[in-house]
Amino acid sequence: MYWMEKELELMADASLERSLRTSNSVSGSPGYTLRGEQVLLNMSSNDYLGLSQHPAILEVMREALLTEGAGSGASRHVTGNRMSYSRLEEALADWQNCEAALVLANGYMANSGVISALVGRGDVVFSDQLNHASIVDGIVLSRAEHARYRHNDMEHLRTLLNKYRDKRRKLIVTDAVFSMDGDQAPLRELAALKREYGAMLMVDEAHSGGIYGGRGEGLCHELGRQNDVDIHMGTFSKSFGVYGAYICGSRTLIRWLVNKARPLIYSTALPPSIVAGISKSLVLVQKEHWRRERLYAATWLFRSLLGDAGFNIGAGDSPIVPLIVGDNDTALRFSGALEEEGIVAVAIRPPTVPNGTARIRFSLSAVHTDKELVNASTRIHNIGLRLGVLSP
Ligand code: PMP
Repeated sequence: MYWMEKELELMADASLERSLRTSNSVSGSPGYTLRGEQVLLNMSSNDYLGLSQHPAILEVMREALLTEGAGSGASRHVTGNRMSYSRLEEALADWQNCEAALVLANGYMANSGVISALVGRGDVVFSDQLNHASIVDGIVLSRAEHARYRHNDMEHLRTLLNKYRDKRRKLIVTDAVFSMDGDQAPLRELAALKREYGAMLMVDEAHSGGIYGGRGEGLCHELGRQNDVDIHMGTFSKSFGVYGAYICGSRTLIRWLVNKARPLIYSTALPPSIVAGISKSLVLVQKEHWRRERLYAATWLFRSLLGDAGFNIGAGDSPIVPLIVGDNDTALRFSGALEEEGIVAVAIRPPTVPNGTARIRFSLSAVHTDKELVNASTRIHNIGLRLGVLSP
């Protein structure tokens, strides 16, 4: 295992080694996290709507735990498929206004399992260069050709669609909101290209589900493009504050996935308490509009504060706010300095982001107050000056 030590040393020298830090939750305060004895403002959670500690969700989860047990005991194809699954899937189809839905264990398994069930050898997947790793892994697993197009570059996508015109099945896949940049995919143009070239379109709404659309349906609904999307994917681990993932689409799609998606077939069903928590969260996501309103206001404020200070925060307008510093070591030092100032905001480095674009990734939540954000931005500004990220 000497080779491992050598490789790890090289990673450490390039400020690229990662280690697992403990962050405990602070009961009753979803906007904070405990590191050791220190209570810190959590600006790195994907709990966008602040639902992870909602009492009504906790109550139904507790009840399901006591009545249905800790685990589901088997795959959904065996005896793990409780009635609560079907009820949740009906509610999801109703929410998304589509024919059918399927719940899967998490977003990683949904993307990797669904893509590998849809395409195989002789097919091609057109995938944005900045798509999430679970999409990339799904493509690799599928053995289809991987045609990576430059980020949001529709001309490049068209060139690739022409190049692979004769492939059997074609799938275009994109994040709706990109997880490390917070910008949006051009869904209108993607829908037009999908129609022109007879491809399927899959959209990952991990960072937009719950946030956009009148009932939190996601960006596709917000932009009126839901009928152009063949495979609509989202997670319950972020805005929903729980865990798990969904696929929405036609009855035929869901029937196909029930037969072909290996993570569904060969893995144990989610625990009943999780399914109960998701079901309650789905009701709250639709009903509690004020959480979305608050999140938009927090996003606007924080983006203006960092933008006006002169930081490079990219081109997005979502609650994911990247503060791009470029160099890995500076990103690590920035994150360390923030922690000393009472803020958790992690450094994101390659290979998660392209070389030379290391950043601090802030993610905002409906539970962040204006006062917390103004105070945080003052501290961020001072650190930026101290580390030379901002010029005086
Ligand atoms: N897609 C995107 C765009 C994501 O950001 C993530 C999570 N980081 C996933 C999928 C995976 O979701 P999960 O955490 O539920 O596995």
